[in-house]
Amino acid sequence: MAKYDYRGAVHCHSTYSDGTGSVEEIMAAANDAGLDFVILTDHDTMKPKQEGEDKWHGSAMLICGTEISPEKNHLIAVGEEELKDVESMKNLSPQECINAVNKQDWISFLAHPDHEGVEKFDVPSCKWEDWSVQDYAGMGIWDLQTDWQEQLNRDELTTDLYTDFARHLTGPKDETLNRWDELCQKGKVIGLGEITNHNFKREYEGKEYQIFPYETAFRTIQNHVLLDEPLAKDYAVARKQVLDAVREGQYYISFDFWDDPTEFAFEIDNGETVAPMGGTVELGEEVTELVAMLPEDALINVFHNGKSIHEEEANEVLIEINEPGVYRLEAMRNDLTWILSNPIWVTGEAPQPEIEEPEEEETVEEEPAAEETPAEEPSADDEQAQE
Ligand SMILES: [Zn+2]
Repeated sequence: MAKYDYRGAVHCHSTYSDGTGSVEEIMAAANDAGLDFVILTDHDTMKPKQEGEDKWHGSAMLICGTEISPEKNHLIAVGEEELKDVESMKNLSPQECINAVNKQDWISFLAHPDHEGVEKFDVPSCKWEDWSVQDYAGMGIWDLQTDWQEQLNRDELTTDLYTDFARHLTGPKDETLNRWDELCQKGKVIGLGEITNHNFKREYEGKEYQIFPYETAFRTIQNHVLLDEPLAKDYAVARKQVLDAVREGQYYISFDFWDDPTEFAFEIDNGETVAPMGGTVELGEEVTELVAMLPEDALINVFHNGKSIHEEEANEVLIEINEPGVYRLEAMRNDLTWILSNPIWVTGEAPQPEIEEPEEEETVEEEPAAEETPAEEPSADDEQAQE
C-alpha cells in the first residue's frame, strides 16, 4: 500500500541555545536540503515556540521540541503544546524527567545514547547511562555527531575526514543496535535518527571549519514518516500528522546523502491485517508474510529478535514468518547503512511441531511441521477475500 513519505531531521540547535544559526538560517537550509520538517531541540527551552517559530518556513515546517540536558542522560522531547517547566527538568532524575514529559503528552527519546566524546578535543561524553528507566517512546539509534566524532579519535587526522565525511562514517554502533534489539524484545522502543547539529565553528591547525553546516547535516541522517494522507497545509494539522507517526514509530531512518530512499516500504501481513512499522500483528491463521520494497537494490538484512534471518542483495523482500517476536530491516549501500526500519512486533504462538499425544489428530511425523498450513477447502467467502 503506497504511503506518503515525508522527510525530517531531528536534533538540531539554533541560537536559542548553543547552535550558531538563527531559526531563519536553519529553515532556509532545510528548504535547500528538501526537508519537510525539522524537529528543533534547543537545550531546556521553549523559547522558539513562544516566539512563534512553530510554523511553515517555506516548504519545511519547524516543530519545536527540546533537549533536556543534564550532564549525562539527555532526553529529546517533542509535542504539540508548550512543554511546561522545561527549564528545571534537567534537575530531575532521568525517570522523573520521562514521567514529566509523558504527563504533558509529549514524546521522549533517549538522545545519542552511546556518545563517547573526543578526549583530544575536550568533547565530553554525553551518553545515556541510566538504563533502569522505562516508559520512554524510543532512543536514538544513529547519530551523525557520535559517528563522525569517533573518527576524530584516530592518531592521524586528515582533512578528508571533513571534506569527504560520508566515506568515513561507520553507521549505527553495534552496541546501540544490540541494546535496542534487546529492549524491543521487552516492549515497544522506537528508533530515532539524530544529527545533533549545532553548525559549530571550530579551529584546527589555524583553519576554521563548520561542523557540520546545517544544510550538509540535513542531507545525511533523516527520519521518513509514512502517512496515509498527504500532509495538510494547515500547520497545526500537519504537525499532528507528523507527531502521531513519530509517536507510533511509523517511520524509517535513512542516510539520504547518496541515495534517496523514498518509496521504501516495510510491512507484515497476516492475511487479515497489515502492520506498518511501529505496529503489532498476530501470526496469521494461515500465512504471515514480511514484505519490503526499496527504490533500488541494496544489501538487505532482516532481523528477528536481533538475529539476521535473511540476507539478500535485492530491491524487495518477501518472506514467510512463523515465529512471534520483533522484526526489523537494515539495508546497506556503499558499505554504509542506508535504511533502518522501525520494528514490527509479531504476537501469537509459533506452530508447534506435532510430536506428543496426537489424540484425534492425524499421524505424527518425525519431521517438524511443514511450513505451509494445509489450506481449508475454498468457499465462496474465501474467494471474495482474495480481492
Ligand atoms: Zn545532547
